[in-house]
Amino acid sequence: MSLLKILVINSGSSSLKYQLMDMDTNKAIAKGLVERIGLPGAILTHRPADGEKEIITAELPDHNAAIKLVLEAIVHPEYGVIKSLEEIDAVGHRVLHGGEKVSGSVLVDDNVKKAIEECIELGPLHNPANLAGILACEKLMPTTPQVAVFDTAFHQTMPPEAYLYGIPYELYEKYKIRRYGFHGTSHKYVSQRAATLLGQRIEKLKMISCHLGNGSSITAIKYGKSVETSMGFTPLEGLLMGTRSGDIDPAIVSFIMNKEKWTGDQVNEFLNKKCGVLGISGISSDFRDLEKAAEEGNYRAKLAIDVFVHDVKKYIGAYAAILDGVDAIIFTAGLGENSASIRKAICDTLGYLGVSIDEEKNQVRGQEIDISKLGAKCRVLVIPTNEELMIALDTKEIVSRQ
Ligand code: ADP
Repeated sequence: MSLLKILVINSGSSSLKYQLMDMDTNKAIAKGLVERIGLPGAILTHRPADGEKEIITAELPDHNAAIKLVLEAIVHPEYGVIKSLEEIDAVGHRVLHGGEKVSGSVLVDDNVKKAIEECIELGPLHNPANLAGILACEKLMPTTPQVAVFDTAFHQTMPPEAYLYGIPYELYEKYKIRRYGFHGTSHKYVSQRAATLLGQRIEKLKMISCHLGNGSSITAIKYGKSVETSMGFTPLEGLLMGTRSGDIDPAIVSFIMNKEKWTGDQVNEFLNKKCGVLGISGISSDFRDLEKAAEEGNYRAKLAIDVFVHDVKKYIGAYAAILDGVDAIIFTAGLGENSASIRKAICDTLGYLGVSIDEEKNQVRGQEIDISKLGAKCRVLVIPTNEELMIALDTKEIVSRQ
């Protein structure tokens, strides 16, 4: 069966992003964003690939209403991009958490919906919205196949020594407390692109993929499989990020609770929203603001960037040890794709791995390129992530197999 058009849905608690992908060209024919679902004054911004953007306001009580509006926009006589919904061959849904039951993308059936529901405990902000998106599409396009693509699935290949924490094994059995890892769709996509760019089989490569954005994670990928990743039970672990603390001594949690008279939920919110480079700099969670402030001599902005760079180096070193050598380091996401200065700062002390980057090539932004000097043993690649395309490709493969 040849699949030509796939709708990709990324549904959040009050927002929903979509892309209609043409699988001949692997490009989006239209994309858009619905904001304020369930709140007064919802807005849909619809962008056809070769047309003006259209802004539609509406009252959208739930995800069903939001997806209905998206589908109407896609087939609209003026700003739509297809004539009928029958042209959509399949829908691919981004789902945050699949727990331990899901180790790949799957065709949605009752068991899959049950698995997503069971993982609400692990992904309380995202999984309910992801499920609502699936149910809405099933209702509005009952004969179109739906595929779920999980952020955690790529990391299910991690061995127990990488995913277990140093807590009693019974807690892992009872509450499933373990490392899951996130950004899996992005790490999978960039590692596959890296193999293509290097002209080598992924089964032969040891890579470290650095997804550095507002949320950041690093993954060790051995022969195409995730063997270790920096985010853990939740996306709070690992590198310090825009507003998340990343790794801290767990004793700090009860220490702050006692000092500030906070509840567990308050500390959790604090560690997710008020820490990271925002907390250290006191200025911003956005690296562009920090780079500018640091250039102007702001000490704490420079400190925040330095701590971030130090963290990334630390993880790269640790993962090189676990992989027993590295063939390529990949930079992706907002910061990894765009910031030449951060890439340079990270790579500066990686000579021991055979890293040597070409300053001129490193000046690129958002394009696929090998920025290493000729002959460098460990290649350094910039690869713009494309989670929507990865979701569409997985969806295509799964539906074609049916
Ligand atoms: P999210 O995790 O929300 O998907 P992104 O991958 O879009 O985030 O990354 C956002 C981050 O990338 C922000 O901190 C932003 O400052 C940074 N970023 C984007 N463009 C640049 C740039 N040109 N220089 C430095 N940082 C950038």
